[in-house]
Amino acid sequence: MRLGVNAALVHGRIVEGDVAVEGGLIEGVGLSPAGRIGLAVPGFIDVHINGFDGVDFTTADAGDYTRVAGCLASTGVTAFQPTLITLPVPDYFGALGRLRSTSTPGARILGMHLEGPFLSPIRSGAHDPRNMLDPDPELTRRLLDAGPVTCMTIAPELPGALDLIELLVAEGVTVALGHTDADAQTANAAFDRGARSVTHIFGAQRPWRHRDPGISGAALVRDDVFITAIVDGVHLAPEAVKLAANAAGERFVLVTDAISAAGRPDGHYLLAGRTVLLDHGACRLENGTLAGSVLTMDQAVRNMIDLGFDPARAIAAATSAPAALLRRPDLGNLEPGAAADVCVLDDSYHVIRTIVAGMESFAL
Ligand code: ZN
Repeated sequence: MRLGVNAALVHGRIVEGDVAVEGGLIEGVGLSPAGRIGLAVPGFIDVHINGFDGVDFTTADAGDYTRVAGCLASTGVTAFQPTLITLPVPDYFGALGRLRSTSTPGARILGMHLEGPFLSPIRSGAHDPRNMLDPDPELTRRLLDAGPVTCMTIAPELPGALDLIELLVAEGVTVALGHTDADAQTANAAFDRGARSVTHIFGAQRPWRHRDPGISGAALVRDDVFITAIVDGVHLAPEAVKLAANAAGERFVLVTDAISAAGRPDGHYLLAGRTVLLDHGACRLENGTLAGSVLTMDQAVRNMIDLGFDPARAIAAATSAPAALLRRPDLGNLEPGAAADVCVLDDSYHVIRTIVAGMESFAL
């Protein structure tokens, strides 16, 4: 099948010509004659999303996942990691069990991201600190058995955290550090043991200081660590985005951290049972603490472009960078043989069409 596009973004370069997909894979790029509609880019990958359009993944069932996977395709997302914030232990098993039995069209579900429960109450953010626990290998093994866990965010300064990182890495789980008061030395020890990413850089972690650079400082100067960022104009000042993106380069990953309020009007919503008020683009607990976002991945890309970043660079932060973070070389690029997960953008970088595994998943 020819997509009818006039160009494609391949490894950060514009390649004039059409794109062909066959059997769920990219068959060719730069094909003549070129089509007339839009620029084909790899589908966006969101590694941190808590919910969307009224659905909170804490309680989502198969029907909810199907609806969200369809909604996300309309924002250019072709793959995502549903994310659970810190919950009472029994709630994890319910949510993981429901995800395990879910198979849905639309954006691919890569596996669950557990943002907790092994986090620091000192940096709880919008999580309920009463549910936070010290690292527990036995509980971790039960969680991994309960459903498809592909990523876990932990605080490395907690007792047993470094050993837990090795356990998770051995099980193929991507380990991120977040909701942490760790200093740079502890962060480096965790990265040396296999932690691979920092969750929503600068948020809910020890702040960067010039003699105490914390986890963000440690991550930004390492070549082997990715950082994720919520570029919604609320969580990070423009200077913080530029600092992090310029330091991290290809290791800079856009995420939404979206909650159930995303795609909905201002009002009250639930995040893991806690009430959140959405008001003018910001989600907050009653005490004012930021609680996720209503960002979409296509808007995050446009926000980066609006900050002055090259469009190819902004798109890489939503595609090849998260694919590399999750070690998914089949995703996040449009070279022949890769998955036919494609987003077609117009001249102003709005989504006009989304294809997942060669299947039409959204069209304007
Ligand atoms: Zn968080």
